[in-house]
Amino acid sequence: MPDAPSTDFYAAFVKSGPGSFLASRLGLPQPPVLRRYQAGKPALAGPVLLGGKGRLVEPVRELLADYDLVVNNGGARGAEKLGGAVFDATGITSIDELVGLYEFFGPQIRSLGNSARLVVLGTTPELIEDIDEHIVQRALEGFTRSVAKELRDGATAQLVYVHPDAATGASGLASTLRFLLSGKSAYVDAQVIRITDKDATAPADWDKPLAGKVALVTGAARGIGATIAEVLSRDGAHVIAADIPAAGEALSAVANKVGGTALPLDVTAEDAGKKVAELVKSRHSGLDIVVNNAGITRDKLLANMDEGRWNSVMAVNLKAPKQLVDDLLAEDALNEGGAVVDVSSIAGIAGNRGQTNYGATKAGVIGIVDAYTPVLAEKNITINAVAPGFIETAMTAAIPLATRQAGRLMNSLQQGGQTVDVAETISYFASPASAAVTGNVVRVCGQSLLGA
Ligand code: NAD
Repeated sequence: MPDAPSTDFYAAFVKSGPGSFLASRLGLPQPPVLRRYQAGKPALAGPVLLGGKGRLVEPVRELLADYDLVVNNGGARGAEKLGGAVFDATGITSIDELVGLYEFFGPQIRSLGNSARLVVLGTTPELIEDIDEHIVQRALEGFTRSVAKELRDGATAQLVYVHPDAATGASGLASTLRFLLSGKSAYVDAQVIRITDKDATAPADWDKPLAGKVALVTGAARGIGATIAEVLSRDGAHVIAADIPAAGEALSAVANKVGGTALPLDVTAEDAGKKVAELVKSRHSGLDIVVNNAGITRDKLLANMDEGRWNSVMAVNLKAPKQLVDDLLAEDALNEGGAVVDVSSIAGIAGNRGQTNYGATKAGVIGIVDAYTPVLAEKNITINAVAPGFIETAMTAAIPLATRQAGRLMNSLQQGGQTVDVAETISYFASPASAAVTGNVVRVCGQSLLGA
């Protein structure tokens, strides 16, 4: 997948010979080149160290049988840079045992290669009855988020909480581990993902996890939406690319490129859901994946904001994604085993000056995920959201230079993300292999310093 055209002249400069020399002399940030997914290439650049003494270490060894796993990094392989390190912390039940994190990860930090992946596995704290165990499992979050801030060269750290009653074999964990232990999660850093106790079936081919699925992507004519259409199609889905009628040729171009269907559709129209339902029922056997990506900004300080700006942002960003799911359910057009993925924003988590309307809608989207998780679970449908940070698009290219540069650098990876980073996260959520992944909000922001 080609990267979006970047206006990051700073990154280009510090990667040049004289620029790199100057940046290191002046102590300026030198953004690392992130390793991203390429079909046919190994998921990671080096072996994965597996450790810990919990209930998941053996299942994980089986789930990752095709990875180059090592159990200790001493001896002959000591000089080799690690592609990743996975630590099963589910066996930690007392404060004293937390030292296991220190003992496992500490010696490895200097052996990590470019874009290496650290993954901590824990038990979902809210579901633990024992007080000490609850406390120490919660502690894993602070460890993970802090070590992520210390990593260099594109390396990231994530925490995965697994339901205490996860089925033997922990099949629901596989898609998450494969997403995190690959270039698909290049711009996802310091995130916490919760896995339910549901089983999940591995796809016939991990490179085509969406084979046979029909996906709707709104706002697909350009930007992040166009890349979502490309990635879902690459992963095997038939994509219905929807955008406002005025998007015309750009929308057709995206649909043609991915061998999908172009659907001119204003998501705020009263009959939007009905139109989608008619299409998927007449041409397909229903819809499997809904990606509510269409979104707008109408920024103004609250004191200067006219009601039109407020209302239009509410209509596109919050009312439409809820209404679409309601209508598709009412029309019985959303298939069992399906997935809804909504696009939030870090502005909905941290807040942003000049974006009271937008921030409210993007936090509301997280509310949609929370509220619909149990409702959709009854039909075996998952719902999750991505919250992008600074992504290189036409939208962010329009931000004044100084603000744009600050936005880019204020995260642990010291750069903006690519549209493909958001799209990969969405495809991971959309996969039937992620049947045990619901109710999550994953930020695709390189551990932005804005917000948690
Ligand atoms: P973009 O403006 O480039 O693309 C948005 C698309 O949505 C456009 O093609 C537009 O025509 C379409 N759209 C707008 N109103 C519509 C409607 N009523 N019906 C159907 N389509 C409609 O924006 P983008 O940067 O690609 O953003 C995509 C999503 O990601 C948005 O929800 C945005 O809020 C979110 N987001 C973006 C960033 C970023 O850095 N670019 C950061 C956080 C969140």
